[in-house]
Amino acid sequence: MSNAESDYRYRKRRVKLDRQREFRLGEGRISGYSSVFLGALSLLAVLAYLYPSYLTTIELRQVYDAGALQKVLKYGMYFSLLFGVLTLVLRRHKRLGITGIGLTLIAFALGGYSIPVGPVEPRRLSLGVDWLILALLGSVFVFMTLEKLFPKYRNQVIMRPEWDLDLFYFCLNHLLISAILIYGNYHASHFHWAVSPAVKQSVQSIPLLLQVALIILCADFVLYWEHRLYHEVSWLWPVHAVHHSVEHMDWLAGSRGHFLQVFSERAMVLVPLYLLGPDQAALDIYVVFAALQAVLIHSNLRFTFGPLKYVFVTPQFHHWHHSSEKPAIDTNYSAHTVLFDRLFNSYHMPEEHWPAEYGTTRRLPRSVIGQMLYPITALVKRSRGAPPPH
Ligand SMILES: [Zn+2]
Repeated sequence: MSNAESDYRYRKRRVKLDRQREFRLGEGRISGYSSVFLGALSLLAVLAYLYPSYLTTIELRQVYDAGALQKVLKYGMYFSLLFGVLTLVLRRHKRLGITGIGLTLIAFALGGYSIPVGPVEPRRLSLGVDWLILALLGSVFVFMTLEKLFPKYRNQVIMRPEWDLDLFYFCLNHLLISAILIYGNYHASHFHWAVSPAVKQSVQSIPLLLQVALIILCADFVLYWEHRLYHEVSWLWPVHAVHHSVEHMDWLAGSRGHFLQVFSERAMVLVPLYLLGPDQAALDIYVVFAALQAVLIHSNLRFTFGPLKYVFVTPQFHHWHHSSEKPAIDTNYSAHTVLFDRLFNSYHMPEEHWPAEYGTTRRLPRSVIGQMLYPITALVKRSRGAPPPH
């Protein structure tokens, strides 16, 4: 730790409780939002059952049983109606209850949970509605529950500022999964000259968990340097700054990101996987590990993970990466393990401290359009002599 860093006066983050947005039992808001959430997902699921070749992804269809998932849909629809009725009883304002019930009734009218499941005509490009529904359900049940039970900041409400903006990014990134995979595979195929059957064979001959460890390290190396370039090359920073414009960390915060970054990150990480050529099982374990860790490290969770924090990227480590405080700027680039930050001198983990502030030092536009155009507007501003933001 440098002198400047050890002299830094760390502060505690203060989060004021927003009573207007807080969910309290008995007011009908928890049931209302649950009804709308389940109603919207049910309607999306029914549309996916109606038009599977346009709205579902080939890769994911091989993993789940569409017929069995209709049972889950059935419960989702009935619970949406139940919560909707409860909301109408509990709340003076009827909008939430009516919206939830309305969405579910439309889902019933379109065929509900008994649409016949048959063979699906494969299409290269489709929307990942199935991926969106499963990821959203999983994240809400697992991470929102954990955040309620073990929050780092208890006063931070679920509907914290800009939650809707981040939910939009979450939906977009999941819906575009096919396009991201097509682009990623196309990008990786440019490296076919470097593929070696001997390397593939030796990778596949080692035990499964060692293969996973090897994938994690190779992916981490690529992601570390890609991430570092986004921070340290001044014309790349405005693209990545969109991800850093988040000022409240939770399970949804990591979804915010410019589509250029989302596409490039996924494309770059496919290159080492393509060159290593591990067993499919090792790849599957890595994909699940990477997906869960990416949500976990942005979460509002107080887990410090004991000695594991010296090996893996944890919420505290990555929260520092999102801090706008001076000693933390341009540190903690790693995605999976802390190894490359240690090796390349960009590690910042002041034992017991957590950041007091998150975000960029110069505030970005707060709308999706403003953020999508930000790389261009920032470039124009710079060409007129403005200093680069950070
Ligand atoms: Zn970053």
